[in-house]
Amino acid sequence: MTLFANQFNRLTQRRASSLYRQCQVNDAPTGRLFFANGRSYLNFSSNDYLGLAQHPDVIQAYQQGAARYGVGSGGSPLVTGYQQAHHQLAEQLSDWLGVDRVMLLTSGFSANQLVLKTLLEADDLLLQDKLNHASLIDAGLTSQASMRRFLHNQPEALLKYLSRSDATNKLVVTEGVFSMDGDQAPLHQMAQICEQHQAWLMVDDAHGIGVLGQQGRGSCDVYQVQPQIRMATFGKAFGVGGAMVGGSDDLIAFLTNFGREYIYSTAMPAAQACAVQAALSLIRQQQQQQQLRENIQCFKSLMEQTPWTMMASDTAIQPLWVGSSETALALSQALREKGFWVSAIRPPTVPQGQARLRITLTAAHQQQDIVQLAESLNELAVVFAQNEVMP
Ligand SMILES: *Cc1c(COP(=O)(O)O)cnc(C)c1O
Repeated sequence: MTLFANQFNRLTQRRASSLYRQCQVNDAPTGRLFFANGRSYLNFSSNDYLGLAQHPDVIQAYQQGAARYGVGSGGSPLVTGYQQAHHQLAEQLSDWLGVDRVMLLTSGFSANQLVLKTLLEADDLLLQDKLNHASLIDAGLTSQASMRRFLHNQPEALLKYLSRSDATNKLVVTEGVFSMDGDQAPLHQMAQICEQHQAWLMVDDAHGIGVLGQQGRGSCDVYQVQPQIRMATFGKAFGVGGAMVGGSDDLIAFLTNFGREYIYSTAMPAAQACAVQAALSLIRQQQQQQQLRENIQCFKSLMEQTPWTMMASDTAIQPLWVGSSETALALSQALREKGFWVSAIRPPTVPQGQARLRITLTAAHQQQDIVQLAESLNELAVVFAQNEVMP
């Protein structure tokens, strides 16, 4: 036996259920193409929304950062791993977002663990949107607070929980742009409700930062809200990797002093912080956002003419509704044969019976790429309807 018996059974079941997952080696640089099995595909599953992963300025900043600082930070931030490049980046981010202070983390996943687990105590109330990312849900479950999940994007549901609660500390957490749905949280209403009920608001803007708002400041800028806690990642629109948490001086000082994910983990390499600085400067100049918006518009209007059901979204995440995992896989496979890389998203990433293709657009796509994808989906609609597997 090479695995505990229970776990072996779970793995066997998963292999049999169209839910099995494995990494696919991509032999192309991050960007418009995906290269696997000896052929290249147009990549419609990337979160590199602005195409910055391959931008010469960002690459150069990374290289120069490595030459100046070395390739690793050599320690956790509170020991020796916090270098000038980290400090500069944190200052630039807090300036840009208009928050007192920002701390840097190596991943968004650990940033969310850090915030919820460190901040919340046993008598606190944590309210999360039902569709929040796994990193938030897991963090909430391991925090000491009692957690409730309100109906997706429904402020009235949130209000009901808040008005019933007599907890002293209440924290409401939502994503700005939902990662598997592409829709946006009604942040203005949520912020109002939170204020009325003395609750704090935390926005995880992994998919809004860099692409939405003035100078790419993200979802909070779009809705003109100032949540007490902001989380953003550098692995999506920034094209690099890492994450930040922003808030008041006291909040960040508290998280720095008590957050185990921060204290006991090696800091991101300074070179990476240099690359994020370069990406930030491009984001603030807003040269890529317009191309992305045009690509989204182009795709949406083409898809209106196909029989497929698109989920309501104005962002770079354009999910095509399927339902069954088998059909989602079959459609993803059929697209692959036509030269498109589009991942099927299945449970447990989304609820049972809600499998979909998560199509993402980026500024790196050319108009012709998008036209080809829509045409191929149109052709496949006929095939799938004939096989009676059309959702
Ligand atoms: C991707 C993502 C994260 C995790 O960020 P990483 O830096 O990739 O670990 C957290 N929250 C949301 C909503 C995300 O989409």
